[in-house]
Order: sequence, then structure tokens, then C-alpha cells
Amino acid sequence: MKTLTDTFQLSNGTEIPCVGFGTWQTPDGPTAVNSVKKSIEAGYRHIDTAAAYKNEGSVGQAIKESGVAREELFITSKLWNTERGYEKTLAAFEQTLKELETDYLDLYLIHWPASSSQFDNWEEINLETWRAMTELYKAGKIKAIGVSNFMAHHLEALVQTEVKPVVNQVEYHPGHAQDEVVSFCRQHDILIEAWSPIGSGRLLDNEALKEIASKYDKSVAQLCIKSVLQNGVLPLPKSVTPERIEENTHVFDFEISDEDMKQINAMENVGFSGMNPDELDF
Ligand code: NAP
Repeated sequence: MKTLTDTFQLSNGTEIPCVGFGTWQTPDGPTAVNSVKKSIEAGYRHIDTAAAYKNEGSVGQAIKESGVAREELFITSKLWNTERGYEKTLAAFEQTLKELETDYLDLYLIHWPASSSQFDNWEEINLETWRAMTELYKAGKIKAIGVSNFMAHHLEALVQTEVKPVVNQVEYHPGHAQDEVVSFCRQHDILIEAWSPIGSGRLLDNEALKEIASKYDKSVAQLCIKSVLQNGVLPLPKSVTPERIEENTHVFDFEISDEDMKQINAMENVGFSGMNPDELDF
């Protein structure tokens, strides 16, 4: 990957720009509008939002105001946990389109799996939700469908269906490599997207990462984003700070050595959010 607009190809043929701009915890209103506009100015063409972030309206406004044509942008949103099931998914999707003021999505994800800790029929709920996603995909309203925070056991049933998930967005960063789900997804041609590539900021003070980053004259944030890319995973860095939005795009003018990648990939239990998809209370 050489620029922000280089793409990964999803298994259904859809091209997805190799770094996405994250918007979790970005307050709705001017902060979201300005940061998304800034990201587009800085060269991002892939924006990651979700109904649960309550900022889809601002993301839509930023897209309109950016002056960049809708079809040049790749927009992802996610179905929230309260809207699982066939009918509710169809309705939630329409609401998301309305908020974003668009008539299609590039990628729509189930935000979290229904899990056994909350539902006896968790697998059936996920399949019913997936049935609605599949229908929307077949109707051409979504270019690609996928999931988020699904572990291998949540994915088993979905990969047997007619239209398989092409993306799984999971927590992924130095110190949290999620080997089991990553390997399952690779076997099934499912691209991994990295949420919290900078560990939501928790990795910025890590001494080992600071030392490696300094060798390349890069920040820890840039090192994290680049290491994710070099592992063949799609990073979704978030910032509301214009200088950082810009800084996070400068990840194509250096290459992390094999030795440093080994050290980064060997880091364990650093910067984990603590969010386990099988122990959700939301
Ligand atoms: P992140 O991108 O790992 O880190 C964001 C934090 O780091 C913010 O506090 C930001 O501060 C700071 N930061 C960013 N760039 C920086 C830089 N160059 N120097 C110093 N600080 C910097 O975290 P994230 O928001 O948790 O995750 C990224 C995206 O993944 C989300 O926005 C969302 O789109 C997605 N996500 C998805 C899920 C899911 O369940 N699917 C869960 C979490 C996140 P400022 O903003 O103040 O600049």
C-alpha cells in the first residue's frame, strides 16, 4: 500500500480504501462535521461510523460539504445491538441511510454478535439479522456486508450462508493480535479491520513502541497504524484533532523492518479495551 486510496479487494470484488477514518466518541455536531471534513481534505476516502455513535447525521453533512462525490467515498456504518432481527435490521438500515443522506452504503456491519451470555437463541438471532443484511445486499443497497466483534464461533454459521461476510472489524493493535479470529477470517477470505489501532490512545506511552517509532522518526500513532497495515489488516484511526488527522496519513513513506515487526507482534496483553464479545452487558 502506497497511499490512502490504495485498496484491499474484498472477496466479493469490492475495493476498500486501505485506511479508514474512525468516528467513535466523536461528538455529533461541529466536532464530527469538522473532523470528517478535515479527514477528507487530508486524503481519506473511507469513513467508519455507526448508528451507536450518534453522529451519522454529522458524517453525512461533512460528506456533502466536502465537495467530494459520494461515489468516490467509501462509507461504513453498523447495526446496533437493539436492532437485531430481520424486520428491525431493515428498518435500522433505512434510518442510517436517512441520517447519512445517502441512498446506499459501501459496507454495513453487525456491530456486535448476539452472544450466549445474553441469549439462548443467539445463533438464530445472528442468522435472522444476517438474512436482512443479505437481502439489502442483493437489492444493491449495500456494496458489501460484514460483521464486527465476531469471534470464530459466532462466524461458523454465517460462513455457511449464501452470502458470506466479507469483513470482520475487531479490536486489533500492537499487544492485541487476536490470532484465533484472524486466522479463521483468513481461511474464509474475510478481511480484518482494526478498531482502536492506537489502542484508543492507550499505546501512546508504551516505552517499547516509543523506542521503535523513534528509529523511523515517526510517532507511536504512525507506527501502530503502519504495523497494522504491514500485517495485512485495515486500520481505522480516529482523531478530532486536525494535526493528528494529518499526521496519521503519513504512514506510506517508511517500512517497519521484519525484526521490529516481530517485536511488535510479540507484544502481549498491552492496551486491551477489556471488551469481550461474549460478556457484553450492552
Ligand atoms: P484509536 O484510533 O486507536 O485512538 C484514538 C485516540 O487516539 C483518540 O483519543 C485520539 O485523540 C488519539 N490520537 C489519534 N491519533 C493520534 C496521534 N497521532 N497522536 C496522539 N494521539 C492520537 O481509537 P478508537 O477511536 O478507539 O478506534 C478507532 C475507530 O475504530 C473508532 O473511531 C471506530 O470508528 C472504530 N471502532 C469500532 C468499534 C467496534 O465495536 N466496531 C469499537 C471501537 C472503535 P483525539 O481524537 O483527541 O485527537
